[in-house]
Amino acid sequence: MSVALITGGSRGIGRVVALNLAKEGYNITFCYTSNETAAQETAAEIEKTGVKALAVKADVSNESDVNALVQAARDAFGPIEVLVNNAGITRDGLLLRMSEKDISDVLDTNLKGAFFCTKAVLKDMMKSRYGKIINITSIVGVTGNAGQSNYAASKAGLIGFTKSVAKEYGSKGICVNAVAPGFIETEMTEKLPEEVKNTYLERISLKRFGTPEDVANVVSFLAGHKSDYVTGQVIEVTGGMQ
Ligand code: NAP
Repeated sequence: MSVALITGGSRGIGRVVALNLAKEGYNITFCYTSNETAAQETAAEIEKTGVKALAVKADVSNESDVNALVQAARDAFGPIEVLVNNAGITRDGLLLRMSEKDISDVLDTNLKGAFFCTKAVLKDMMKSRYGKIINITSIVGVTGNAGQSNYAASKAGLIGFTKSVAKEYGSKGICVNAVAPGFIETEMTEKLPEEVKNTYLERISLKRFGTPEDVANVVSFLAGHKSDYVTGQVIEVTGGMQ
């Protein structure tokens, strides 16, 4: 049975990515840091699809947590074939008011986390000469966004990371791609003021916000064999956001 690892799989986009891959027959390991109840509930939902689930409390910004996470996944289910670097946070604010912690927390989780997780799974993938790595970036990493310089920089960095690792490991049969969502309805966007949400909606051609399913469907494509000749790409899932 195929094995997938999803970071930040307990809630939001990562949860639906995990459930979709479970329905496609992958045994799932996912990590989270704080919300134990959400993690246990997601693990139970995954197991209802007939595959196995392992929820591990691990902070992606901590390399020893990541190494322990990957080892736990491997011990439970065998070599990892699919990695989805999804864990991400925001600490929005204008640059002049942004603290060093706001900058480093966002860069460490969103960018350094992907370095640690990718490094930790590459050996398995190189040995089997097959692997799919999918990085969840953001449209903001392409366009920039006032009030999100830390977040946008982390997501732009993730795009550079995706393209570089795709070049480094393409000859080993490993595909590395990024998905750049626009405005997706999750707890991350729930906290935004109504007027900010309405401004986003005006810029979306399809005139609706995205759902975690919209993103998870593209991740499933990139995780499976139908995308075997696709690497180093960034697929925007924004409903045509201008
Ligand atoms: P969310 O609802 O806030 O969920 C974030 C997930 O990541 C949770 O499972 C959370 O679990 C986990 N997490 C956070 N920090 C972590 C860490 N240091 N180590 C391990 N896990 C961690 O977020 P979302 O909206 O689903 O976003 C998922 C990804 O999509 C993020 O990378 C985000 O930047 C990106 N994205 C989202 C949108 C959007 O509109 N929502 C748009 C573009 C891109 P715990 O809380 O338990 O740690």
